[in-house]
Amino acid sequence: MRTITLEEHFATPEFLAALAKARVQGSVGALGQRVREQLLDLGDGRLADMDAAGIDMQVLSLPGGGMDQLDAATATALARDTNDRATDAVRAHPDRFSAFATLALQDPDQAALEFERCITRLGFKGALLNGTTNGAFLDHPRFTPIFETAQRLGVPIYIHPAPPPRVAQEAYFSGLRDPYGALLANAGWGSNAETGLHCLRLIVSGVFDRFPALQVIIGHMGEGLPFSLTHANSWLSRVSGRLTRSVADYFGTNFHITTSGYFTLPPFLCALLVTGADRLMFSVDYPFSPNADGRAFLDSLPIVPTDREKIGWSNAARLLKL
Ligand code: ZN
Repeated sequence: MRTITLEEHFATPEFLAALAKARVQGSVGALGQRVREQLLDLGDGRLADMDAAGIDMQVLSLPGGGMDQLDAATATALARDTNDRATDAVRAHPDRFSAFATLALQDPDQAALEFERCITRLGFKGALLNGTTNGAFLDHPRFTPIFETAQRLGVPIYIHPAPPPRVAQEAYFSGLRDPYGALLANAGWGSNAETGLHCLRLIVSGVFDRFPALQVIIGHMGEGLPFSLTHANSWLSRVSGRLTRSVADYFGTNFHITTSGYFTLPPFLCALLVTGADRLMFSVDYPFSPNADGRAFLDSLPIVPTDREKIGWSNAARLLKL
């Protein structure tokens, strides 16, 4: 069976150097040497790992934030350079790699132009955005050009976890023994919970009434939302006259979920029961999760072959026009 994975990360030496220079905390700049090497490898090592695990195609993206803590001019130039580097990898191996755009959201108008360049000239399949930008969620009106561009070009936006804003870090994740505060703020809980919150903010702020065709992808088996959707919906949908549909209805028509980093059955079954097999897509979160673990999980799922094909590759191929 063919496999396509959508939350697969890379970095450039220039990006990592810029994070180090700006002393950005809690981002990919703080990773160990092995993961850094895997992020920087867009060639033989990455392909060998994919081959060994049975991953046919990766959609490449820059992970986990840090870009938003650089100044706007530096970040805008770095995003453009990062997208050019991803293009080189895709052009060298068009049957193995595709890409999501990296955008510097400090300057949304410039970011929208870069988004358009990535889709129309470089052949990218959407954009992957990392958490908040200088503390602002994507429902802030200044990010409207990004959604306009995504809807107009018919490409999805992947919302990826990133370190929470400093005020949230201090309120929720301080006062703990090292390194639990930092771990809890990031992949140990906080950044995933924030991504679920981010999605609900987009819904209740009316983004999908203004951009009804906009499609959003989230990883980590839905960032907690499948488990909590009915309860959240029952409270958030009590307010009448503000939204045209129920919160659960937006979630069912404007969101897609990937399996990135979540390779156990209970959250998968919950996501499957809530969203159905047409909006679930296989992903790994390489190199933060091993390709082999992801593929073994996909193969082990107690689902019919047609659903395994949908989740393994055909939903992604349709959404991303691969
Ligand atoms: Zn990731």
